[in-house]
Parts: sequence; structure tokens; C-alpha cells
Amino acid sequence: MQRLVINPTQKQEEVITLTDAQQHYLHRVLRLEAGDRFVAISGEGEGWVAEIQGNHAIAIDILALSLTELPVAVTLMIALPKGNGFDEVVRHCTELGVTTLMPIISTRSLLNPSDKKLERWRRIAEEATEQSERQIVPTITDTIEFTTALEVISSQPANRYICTARGDASHFLNCLETAQDIVIAVGCEGGWTQEEIENAIAQKFQPVSLGRRILRTITAPMIAMSIVAATLEKD
Ligand code: SAH
Repeated sequence: MQRLVINPTQKQEEVITLTDAQQHYLHRVLRLEAGDRFVAISGEGEGWVAEIQGNHAIAIDILALSLTELPVAVTLMIALPKGNGFDEVVRHCTELGVTTLMPIISTRSLLNPSDKKLERWRRIAEEATEQSERQIVPTITDTIEFTTALEVISSQPANRYICTARGDASHFLNCLETAQDIVIAVGCEGGWTQEEIENAIAQKFQPVSLGRRILRTITAPMIAMSIVAATLEKD
């Protein structure tokens, strides 16, 4: 059944009020009619089988959502790549189970995105959540300077890693500890400055390698997330 993320405020008792965009999607794109059913998910872990009734829907059953979330929270801090590269990061890392994405402005970042981009990324995260049958829509924070992000992150207990494309850091797979939440930082096309790496180390980030080749900014977070998900889910 088709999944649709709804805002929890859209559901009052069993009545789900549908936005214009959702009505358009259900009726015009999916060609569903009154009486047809879809799965409404709150994005906060709840789900319902819902039946369409005109411009609203009725939750007819609570859905026992199968567990598709990673057992620990994973935050990705990503220095914004050029162009629309971050769209790909949001889509694929949502599929891979990321909990929070922090778009970062670093020394070598070229981009300072508009609010429109943020809205677009949040919509992509919702779509990827529906597609990958997750229960939780990842949070995409406002864009934040790297130094500020380091301070925010350092107040939370987590294992922290900064991906460095050059140097002699150990492979992420050998350093990764999964007993508590995980934070991973990835640089933009120009990479991190030495000062940024040192600041991160001072905030208990461990430099790690993702292999011998230089990966693009949009590839590195996907590889890091794959390693985390595989480590957490292999048993
Ligand atoms: N222009 C930089 C490379 C930037 S690659 C240089 O020549 O050094 C963009 C980001 O992806 C890097 O900042 C790093 O965070 C990550 N990355 C790319 N390849 C990596 C690798 N092999 N190991 C760890 N991180 C990598």
C-alpha cells in the first residue's frame, strides 16, 4: 500500500485532514478514489491504514510498523556540495537510515542555500522515508557554520568521526563504535582545512578514512552510512 507522511496535527481522532498537495497526489497521481486505502505515517513512529473519503481520510486501523530504524541515532554533518548535490545525499542517506542531516557551511563551501532549498530537502526526506518504509523522517536542520555545529554536537554524548580524504587515518570500519549515537562529518569538494580538522579533534572527533580513493562529497556520506548500517544490522 502507498505510504504518505502526514503531519501529526493533521489527525484529529480518526479523521485525517489532507492538504491540497496530498489530495492531488492521492487522487491525480496515484489515481486513488473514495474507499481506496493508503498508509499514513506520522514520521514520528506511528502508522495507520487510512481510507480515502473525498478530501479527507479516515484512519481505520493502527498499523504495526515493522522495525526499519537503526538502533542508534546517526547524525551526518555535511559541508554543502555544489549545485543540487545535497538532494542526492538527502535521498540516499534517508534510505540508509540517517536520523539527522546537518547542512554545513565550512571554510571552503561555495554555497549558502535559500530557505527554498531547505524545504525541498525536507520534502525529499519525506519521499525517501515513504519509499524506504521507514517510520521516522530524518530531521534536516537549518544550515549551520561548522564551528557552531561542533559546539552544538559536543554537548551530546556520541561517538564522533570526521572523514578525511588524505592522511593516514584508520579506516572507519576499524574505528566505528556503535554502542551509542554516532556523528559523522564530511567535507565539501575543497575538503576540510587543517584548522577545521583540528577543531573537530578538539571536540572529540576521530579522523577516519573511507578507503584509498578520493570520494566526492555526495559519495562519502553514503559510504559512511552504508558502513554504519551494515555494522548495526549484520547479525
Ligand atoms: N579536494 C579534497 C577532497 C575532498 S573530497 C582533497 O583533494 O583532499 C570531499 C570530502 O569527502 C572530504 O572532505 C572527506 O570528508 C570525504 N572523503 C572523500 N574521500 C574520502 C576518503 N577516502 N576517506 C575519508 N573521507 C573521504
